[in-house]
Amino acid sequence: MAIIITDECINCGACETECPNTAIYEGADDWRYADGTSLEGDVVLPDGKSVNAEEAQEPVSDEIYYIVPDKCTECKGFHEEPQCAAVCPVDCCVPDEDHVETEEVLLGKQRFMHPE
Ligand code: SF4
Ligand code: SF4
Repeated sequence: MAIIITDECINCGACETECPNTAIYEGADDWRYADGTSLEGDVVLPDGKSVNAEEAQEPVSDEIYYIVPDKCTECKGFHEEPQCAAVCPVDCCVPDEDHVETEEVLLGKQRFMHPE
């Protein structure tokens, strides 16, 4: 399951630098699969979707920090617990019920983005 940032976010920015997958972006910023990962050029994602890793993608939110579900592994493969939730001062990083994934899938995403 990915983590989602709720509208209680106060835009402090503390979570952004903690994410091992570079899945967190400031509101209104574009995002890329290549940011902070080993992905480059045309890739086929674990879910079968074809994308260009360096292509700028539309922000998920224009107002608050946001998490890209495709890049969030709930910190699996790096840490015991979601680092964004651990540092958020207002506890607004919560499980995203719309993106429920098994541990196996989350670890597969992590290995796909960071194969080394
Ligand atoms: S749970 Fe981990 S991987 Fe997901 S957004 Fe938070 S810090 Fe990043
Ligand atoms: S740490 Fe929490 S309040 Fe701060 S930017 Fe991240 S989600 Fe928002």
